[in-house]
Amino acid sequence: MIPYGRQWIDDADIQAVVDTLRSDWLTQGPAVGKLEAALADLCHAPHAVAANSATSALHIACLAIDVGPGDVVWTVPNTFVASANCARLCGADVDFVDIDPTTYNISVPALEHKLRKAAMIAGRLPKAVIPVHFSGRAPDQEAIWTLAKDYGFRVIEDASHSVGATHQGEPVGSCRSSDIAVFSFHPVKIVTTAEGGLATTRDAALADRMARLRTHGITKDQQLMSNKDEGGWYYEQIELGLNYRLTDMQAALGLSQLRRLYEFLRRRRELVARYERLLADVPVTRPLIDVLEESAWHLYVIRIDPKRTGKTRRQVYDSMRAAGIGVQVHYIPVHLQPYYRALGFKPGDCPEAERYYEEALSLPLYPAMSNAEQDQVVDALKTSLRCA
Ligand SMILES: *Cc1c(COP(=O)(O)O)cnc(C)c1O
Repeated sequence: MIPYGRQWIDDADIQAVVDTLRSDWLTQGPAVGKLEAALADLCHAPHAVAANSATSALHIACLAIDVGPGDVVWTVPNTFVASANCARLCGADVDFVDIDPTTYNISVPALEHKLRKAAMIAGRLPKAVIPVHFSGRAPDQEAIWTLAKDYGFRVIEDASHSVGATHQGEPVGSCRSSDIAVFSFHPVKIVTTAEGGLATTRDAALADRMARLRTHGITKDQQLMSNKDEGGWYYEQIELGLNYRLTDMQAALGLSQLRRLYEFLRRRRELVARYERLLADVPVTRPLIDVLEESAWHLYVIRIDPKRTGKTRRQVYDSMRAAGIGVQVHYIPVHLQPYYRALGFKPGDCPEAERYYEEALSLPLYPAMSNAEQDQVVDALKTSLRCA
């Protein structure tokens, strides 16, 4: 099976993990600090806080900006469930803003329309908006940031797909147009730590708070303690936190992976340009490639319109899977998950995301994929569009 995505681990990565196993630190130690420094440097952000997943990083990001019961947080339906769950985990309500039908990112006009409506009812404006960098493509951060200032909400970028991406010449994660940005290091993403995630911010207080929430809400900072220091062992728990720490073994893997980040990104872009050529005369909608060099290209999503192809997405999916091609679908609209339907969401709430979902198919894309494997994917797609 050619998977839709997978990690690329080399001998140096393995050695880095083995070296950590022989060191004094297995849990959070010096490698975590180095990984945080490396990402802060890469993103041109002053602060980075690692966590044991992007889901955890999103959760402590929401907690750090005081998302809680009575608040509402907005995100998009075309994302992984974690982008919405992080707010629910804080006891807040969630609402969804529909996507743009060409970029598959948050629709800024839809966001603006929803804000204008919400502003007319007391207490309905969002505490935070979580735009997602779908497939590694940045949303219109500047426009969202302008709205954030106008309507008084915080912005957490879910940049899980976007390690190493840029937006208008700025590294994604610089947080020049957001409060916090979150990355994922899951194996299918751009670089991996197995499980792992990280948040960047320009706000030192938010960084300190996220680091504290990652470790049980515990501090050793005398200034924050209510009692006097009782000795070298003394710490205080000053709020309710979690154990969301990344291990040093994982951080060492991540640091080693970062050496090849730009090679990975270059190969992903090369494969995308190749898909663009190979699929030129295939009757499917290809992703926009106007940001070929800026996007991190976590995903390559085509759309199958049954009216153009005579085949449904389901038929193409089944036939390609039977041919050993691990196509996938990103994403089932989050508001249509049973958990969210039970909260009152229903089909028709986000028509663009729902229409997109009916047609979307992610073709395999990962840096270790060979040209021959990609040719096999294209042949299988052409075959499945011809016969049932
Ligand atoms: C992968 C992903 C997450 C969750 O990442 P984990 O590191 O697996 O917790 C969150 N949001 C989006 C958009 C993702 O793709």
